[in-house]
Amino acid sequence: MINTKNIAIIGGGPSGLIAAYRLASKGFSVHLFERKKSLARKFKIAGKGGLNLTYSEPIKNFIDKYEPHQEFFDTVYKNFSPKDFINWLNSLGVETFVGTSSRVFPKDKSAAEIIKTIQNELLKLNVKIHYEHFWKGFDDKGSLIFETDNETINQNFDAVLLALGGASYSFTGSDGSWKDILAEKEIKIHDFKPSNCGFEVEWSEVFKSKNESQPLKNIKLILDDKSIRGEAMITSYGIEGGVIYHLSRYIRNKIEHEGFCTVYIDLKPDLSEAEILKRLSANRGKQSYTNFLRKKIKLSGAGFGLLKEATSKENMNEPKKLAAIIKKLPIVLTKPRPIEEAISTAGGIDFSEIDDKMMLKNLPGVFVCGEMLDWEAPTGGYLLQGCFSTGVFAADGIARYLK
Ligand SMILES: Cc1cc2nc3c(=O)[nH]c(=O)nc-3n(C[C@H](O)[C@H](O)[C@H](O)COP(=O)(O)OP(=O)(O)OC[C@H]3O[C@@H](n4cnc5c(N)ncnc54)[C@H](O)[C@@H]3O)c2cc1C
Repeated sequence: MINTKNIAIIGGGPSGLIAAYRLASKGFSVHLFERKKSLARKFKIAGKGGLNLTYSEPIKNFIDKYEPHQEFFDTVYKNFSPKDFINWLNSLGVETFVGTSSRVFPKDKSAAEIIKTIQNELLKLNVKIHYEHFWKGFDDKGSLIFETDNETINQNFDAVLLALGGASYSFTGSDGSWKDILAEKEIKIHDFKPSNCGFEVEWSEVFKSKNESQPLKNIKLILDDKSIRGEAMITSYGIEGGVIYHLSRYIRNKIEHEGFCTVYIDLKPDLSEAEILKRLSANRGKQSYTNFLRKKIKLSGAGFGLLKEATSKENMNEPKKLAAIIKKLPIVLTKPRPIEEAISTAGGIDFSEIDDKMMLKNLPGVFVCGEMLDWEAPTGGYLLQGCFSTGVFAADGIARYLK
């Protein structure tokens, strides 16, 4: 079916690309505008460290990761589920597999190859891709204003989809500069905050010099009633890594309200406190603490460093106190790392600003999707799935609007 309606999609990241594919497949004439010379730079960066496309788990558990927007994401995933996403990738020749962690990875294609594949499909569907077009806002008539190297272009479309991303890793093109344009249109936008980020800790110089860049494997991170198993990494500024990212929203909120956040690490989640106590009650003899703990409970060097950092020498000699602290070692986090370094950003367009088609209520004909909206979720597949699925949802919203 040929459709004469012209649609502009601004932003060539995951959410914009899939929306372009969806609308062009329905026969719409789609123009995709991207400020950079190439598409999806953030996605390509994500690919450098094990690209988690989505996560394999029951949909109810999956949706719970989008707290407090479960209802919205329930609707979005009913329309385009993680399974639909994988099927779509497979249909393009991008095979996937589920890792031992339940994360879903591409089998044999890099992030850049996936983008190239999608780009080729878009070209086959006659999507016109305009690179190095920087969207500057709307003119008095509501037309879009684009700035290129040598000119300013004003262009009118039947519908517009903004897929401009969040505000971290700004060199990829997603710098959040759209915020002022939409705020001027009286759209409620929450300040950007770092999400899935590292946190600062005031380590002692001795600890830092010995443990910087050391991993903490198979630990459990505990914050109030929440806990997560996985890995973290000691850094010169503090701590980062999977378990920290997973709880970053709660840590950040606590720091905002209380000025700091104490998290607890269970260094040996597979051993009970009683079992640790039993093993540590043996005579240490002339062994160093490090050797003793390594032999008895396989404690890593970084784990031992943390113990020394958190407890006194006297407590090291008391198996009961030592066992207790191994199971619940406190670390005081003082602030999140800057937005620029964060994997994603919280903040953005308030959900009250969009209707059931993801159209901005204050700007009829203008739709939004992806990380621009005020949601956050743990990295490891939930972010990309959220972006791809909201891209599809907004595209379907546009199709309904133009009908
Ligand atoms: C290091 C790193 C690792 C990550 N790893 C993972 C992972 O493993 N799993 C996961 O789920 N998520 C991961 N993410 C997060 C994921 O990449 C993002 O959530 C996702 O890319 C956001 O998609 P988006 O389409 O909303 O926006 P973006 O990908 O940010 O794309 C927005 C696009 O809009 C363009 N743009 C912005 N402003 C303008 C303008 N004014 N005019 C024209 N174009 C403009 C930008 O250049 C950009 O191309 C990672 C992120 C980082 C930084």
